[in-house]
Amino acid sequence: MKLKIAIQKSGRLHDDSMKLLNDCGLNVKNGHNQLKSMSENFPVEVYFLRDDDIPQYVEDGVAHIGFVGENVLYEKNKTVDIVEKVGFGKCRLSIAVGKNDEYTGPQFLQGKKIATSYPFLTQQFLKENGVDCEIHEISGSVELAPGIGLADAVCDLVSSGSTLFMNGLKEVQPILQSQAVLIKGKELPAEQQQLLDQLVFRIRAVRKAKRYKYVLLNAPEQSLQTIVSLLPGMRSPTVLPLAESGWSSVHSVIEEDAFWDKIEQLKAAGAEGILVVPIEKMIM
Ligand code: ATP
Ligand code: ZN
Repeated sequence: MKLKIAIQKSGRLHDDSMKLLNDCGLNVKNGHNQLKSMSENFPVEVYFLRDDDIPQYVEDGVAHIGFVGENVLYEKNKTVDIVEKVGFGKCRLSIAVGKNDEYTGPQFLQGKKIATSYPFLTQQFLKENGVDCEIHEISGSVELAPGIGLADAVCDLVSSGSTLFMNGLKEVQPILQSQAVLIKGKELPAEQQQLLDQLVFRIRAVRKAKRYKYVLLNAPEQSLQTIVSLLPGMRSPTVLPLAESGWSSVHSVIEEDAFWDKIEQLKAAGAEGILVVPIEKMIM
């Protein structure tokens, strides 16, 4: 009785998927030359696959769950459920045209040719915008297509845009924002569902912890109230007396987004010896 997990064999999602599983306490050995691997301390079997195949494997129940980009998931259009967005593998699927072209909107593509590895999503976009444009499907190096006269535009994944730029193209229209998601089959057996619930609980604890820092600081008596009021903490900050009278040690948890602002305010209020520590897991 095992939970079978599909992850990308090698590529942009492999390392982050492995790291997340390991951060969740599943000791999974790296499988560069293997098809599958096990964990010694959690009943899982990990399958290493091409990302494009993962939605199908999960739909068929060969794997119970899998990590895959939303771009691939929506392109393949399989009947699986998204359990959780996992925050890595962020990119967007965008339309790009020649850097000297004047793109005025989807109508620019009318009567033209577009190259892509995402024919389904591209077609959907064209249809929604009432544009008639020929799709030329290619499996890789899509950005080369306009340069060799194969297409007038491309629809491809972009993160920084530098690959497009190097090929004389510019991004003009994002059609999908994507990140990696954890997917599951429609009908998971009860035992596997239970294991998945445990894993998701851990994933949330790990991801939540990454957004917060543990902060320790020394506060003089006269500004203790101000400092405490600046700090949220899980329930409220911890205040401990220091050996030196007139001073306390204050411990709290601060969200990354608010972090630098808070530190400035704490310093201004008289806080000293501020230590900031990463949190590994956070269970509320
Ligand atoms: P495979 O051999 O598994 O088919 P691949 O070449 O299709 O690999 P990668 O380039 O490793 O795939 O990308 C895997 C996923 O990583 C993409 O589908 C996407 O979800 C995500 N990703 C994140 N940033 C980018 C980017 N800048 N370019 C391409 N993919 C990205
Ligand atoms: Zn792929």
